[in-house]
Amino acid sequence: MIQVKQVFHDYEGKGKFAVSDISFSVESGSIFGFLGPSGAGKSTIQNIMTGLLPIQQGEVLYENQSVRGLKTAFFNRIGVSFEQSNLYASLTGLENLRYYAALFSVPTVQPMELLERVGLREDANKRVSHYSKGMRQRLTFARALLNRPSYLFLDEPTSGLDPKTAVGIRDLILEQKARGAAVFLTTHSMELADALSDTVAFLYGGVIAACDTPEALKREYGRRDVRIVYRENGEERETSIPMDDHERLSAFLKTADVVKLHSQEATLEEIFLRVTGKELTA
Ligand code: ADP
Ligand code: MG
Repeated sequence: MIQVKQVFHDYEGKGKFAVSDISFSVESGSIFGFLGPSGAGKSTIQNIMTGLLPIQQGEVLYENQSVRGLKTAFFNRIGVSFEQSNLYASLTGLENLRYYAALFSVPTVQPMELLERVGLREDANKRVSHYSKGMRQRLTFARALLNRPSYLFLDEPTSGLDPKTAVGIRDLILEQKARGAAVFLTTHSMELADALSDTVAFLYGGVIAACDTPEALKREYGRRDVRIVYRENGEERETSIPMDDHERLSAFLKTADVVKLHSQEATLEEIFLRVTGKELTA
């Protein structure tokens, strides 16, 4: 388990906090979706968690051990896929994975097996300088899985990928969870977060505005509506009535010429807007 406790970060030391009082935990065998618009502080937190930024205030614990005291051997246990990847452009995809695999002192996954899974088998022997942005992203993702990490950090793993590839990546993320990894998924895609996360945190302006399971957030903030398509004066019209407004609902249904009726749940996107008052755009 990873625990983040009351973390604050001030880049310039002028009392302007990029993130304030951030606390949450990521259980092993679960996916934690970290959601927020650009500038919310997602990368700051990820960088503090992975030791790239020193902790100024608060604590990050891996199985109750502070990130401050972790030895280099710890890097055998984590996998990180950043948006801005540092791949070797003059090496092929396969060579990149072989090179990184050799840096670990734990058994690693066969590079070719991973390339296959992310749809890069055919391009394994092409230099990365000839890879598209999406291909580089998939290679970075594959690289993060090489050491079967116990703690996996993924920053926007499916942004800009075609739907078929994105589904493949989703499956791979779910496999990491099933294997017992604690997955920290940073994204601004509500759909991805909703589909994969056991818990989501909404980050906005450097603070956590809400943190719970997607189901609980929907229960708390999401109103369920009944959408009704009905006929009036020979024309089809549409309306929606809150599901728990029984009076209005039954009154409407008694008199209307109903064509279609279905209930709909609020999406995480709508809930984010309700909680923070802001759209979740990139
Ligand atoms: P996100 O990843 O959610 O887009 P960041 O963590 O990158 O957000 O940034 C959070 C805030 O911290 C932003 O206001 C950003 O301008 C500021 N920030 C990020 N990096 C630095 C830095 N190196 N120096 C000063 N301010 C920074
Ligand atoms: Mg970022």
